Amino acid sequence: MPDKPKVAFYWCASCGGCEEAVVDLGADILKVVDAVDIVLWPVALDFKKKDVEAMADGSIAVAFINGAIRNSEQEEWVHMLRKKAGLVVAFGACAHLGGIPGLANFTNKAEIFDTVYGTLPIMDNAAKAVPMQSTSVGGNTLTLPDFWDSVKPLNRVIDVDYYLPGCAPPPDLIMGAVLAILKGELPPRGSVLSPNKACCDDCPRKDSKPDKIEITAVKRITTSIPDPEKCFLAEGYVCLGPATRSGCGSRCIEGNMPCRGCFGPMDGIYDQGAKFISAFASILSPKDDASIGAIMDTIPDPAGTFYRFSLPTSLLFRKKMGGPA
Ligand code: SF4
Ligand code: SF4
Ligand code: SF4
Repeated sequence: MPDKPKVAFYWCASCGGCEEAVVDLGADILKVVDAVDIVLWPVALDFKKKDVEAMADGSIAVAFINGAIRNSEQEEWVHMLRKKAGLVVAFGACAHLGGIPGLANFTNKAEIFDTVYGTLPIMDNAAKAVPMQSTSVGGNTLTLPDFWDSVKPLNRVIDVDYYLPGCAPPPDLIMGAVLAILKGELPPRGSVLSPNKACCDDCPRKDSKPDKIEITAVKRITTSIPDPEKCFLAEGYVCLGPATRSGCGSRCIEGNMPCRGCFGPMDGIYDQGAKFISAFASILSPKDDASIGAIMDTIPDPAGTFYRFSLPTSLLFRKKMGGPA
C-alpha cells in the first residue's frame, strides 16, 4: 500500500480559532485523518521540532500554516516547513493578510511592552521587568524568541502556494481545499481558495441594496439595531461586503452583523481598506470636504474598521515610528 501523503498543521501568531476550525470539521476530520498521515499538529499531537527537522526536504505533501509572523521562532519554523513541504497553504486571515494581530502594526514592540508590562492598571511590576531574549537563572541561560516591531503575513516571509481565507476559514472551504490537494485538482499556484466575487454577490440582503446609495450619517450596531432584512450599507452601517471576497456563507450578515472583511480582497485589489474607503466616500451624500470629514469623524476607529484584517498586506503595512520595520 502506498504511503499516505504527509500533512502538517502549524500555528504562529494566532488566537487558536483556526485550529478550532480544523476540529470543527466534525466527522469529516476522520476522513482527513484516514486519508493522510499527520506529521505535525502542535495543538493536538505531541510532535517535536527535531522530528520535523529530521524529515527529508519536500517529504511533507502540504503544510497548513495559520497565524501571522511576529517573532523569530515563528520565522524559523515557517522557513523549515517551507523546505519540508511541497505545498504551503496560508490558513486563515492572519496568515493570509496579517489579520487581527496585524493591527499591532499601528504600534511597536517598545510601546506594546511598555503597556503590557508597565502601564496596564492590572499590572503589578514596580521593577518594570520585561521579557528578555536571554536570561541567566541559577547558572543556566533561558532564551525567548525575538519579538518584532512588525507583524507580517506569511507570504512576506516565505513563498506561499495557496490561501484559505477567513477568520476562521469555514469547514466547507477547508474540506474543499484538502480534497482538491488529495486529488491533485488545484487551481493555479497563488490562488485564494474561495470564489473571486464580492460578498455582496452572495448576500441574502443583496436585493435590498439599491443601485444608488446615499449616506447622510453613519450608524453603529452598538447604538441601533439593524433591520435584519435590509442591506447594511444602504441603511448607513459600515459593511465591507463590496470590497470583500465571498465564500464565508454570509456568516456575519446572517447574525445581523455587517461584514468586517475577513476574507480579504478579490483578485487584483491590493489594498482592501483603500478600496472600501474609496467606495464609501463615493456614496456619502454631502460632497464638500468639511461635511465628508464630519461624517467620517463619527466612525470611532476608522483604521481598525477599514483595515481590521488587512493592515500588514495594505499599502500602509505599518505606522511609521522610526526604528527597524
Ligand atoms: S484568522 Fe481568526 S481564527 Fe484564525 S488565528 Fe487569526 S484571529 Fe484566530
Ligand atoms: S453591503 Fe453588506 S449587507 Fe449590503 S449587500 Fe453587501 S454584504 Fe450585504
Ligand atoms: S461576512 Fe465578512 S467578516 Fe463575516 S465571515 Fe464573511 S467575510 Fe468574514
